[in-house]
Amino acid sequence: MSQPPARNSGRHRGQGRATGHGGPSGSARRAALAAQIRRTGIATAVVSTLGIVMINTTGIAHSEPVVIPGLRTAGTVADPASGGVADAATDRLSDPALLGQQRDDAARRQAQADRVDRDEALAQLSILLLQQRTTATESARQQEELRWVSPIQARLTQHFGGANGHPGIDLGAPMGTPVVAAHGGIIIYAGWESGYGNFVQIQHANNVVTCYAHLSRISVRVGQQVATGQQVGLEGSTGFSTGPHLHFEVRLGGQNGTKIDPLAWLARHNVSY
Ligand SMILES: [Zn+2]
Repeated sequence: MSQPPARNSGRHRGQGRATGHGGPSGSARRAALAAQIRRTGIATAVVSTLGIVMINTTGIAHSEPVVIPGLRTAGTVADPASGGVADAATDRLSDPALLGQQRDDAARRQAQADRVDRDEALAQLSILLLQQRTTATESARQQEELRWVSPIQARLTQHFGGANGHPGIDLGAPMGTPVVAAHGGIIIYAGWESGYGNFVQIQHANNVVTCYAHLSRISVRVGQQVATGQQVGLEGSTGFSTGPHLHFEVRLGGQNGTKIDPLAWLARHNVSY
């Protein structure tokens, strides 16, 4: 391990002496040439490659070829008669003007490409933003179309069906609690209905109808458009009722359609009691 540093320092001293004298000897010229070539990456690579060849052909230990094969290679590279790869490699790397020009050209091409990319990206972004805004508006509209709410803040006092075939659910709350449209639609009935008392029916999309019975007050009229959550009346105990509650029904297939379990329907629309 102590051998390579000793050899290196010896070589540096040799080079110093060689440059110091006016007429460099053959070995000093080779040393200077080697030093010059070793300053460039590719020349070093060439030296290393040739060094490896030397290792393979001569069997010199891997710590050795740094000095001897390197110097021999330097002579070979510097010989004009040899020409070839080494010369081309040295020319390219040792011409700063050519390198600079190549770098400038590459930078100009890159800058232009970047400008084109940026313009295209901006155009794409504008289109995306426009599409996103349209989609957001459309999405909000669709979400509102799908949104259902509780028709009243109350607790479930009677389920759908059962022994008596209850046609809806009963939702108990203090007298006068606001009753709202569980979903947006058009009022198709607003008045007295036998058994139901003060009664409101709303027609929704797909022929779905919701019914609100036993109201103490009706605050909408037939033909009126109501939004989801808009008040339609006040809870009460009119008609066949034993106490203040909202009797709520969901009918499929129109005003006199099939009565289904409102609890299940509401649950499917993210409303629960
Ligand atoms: Zn009921």
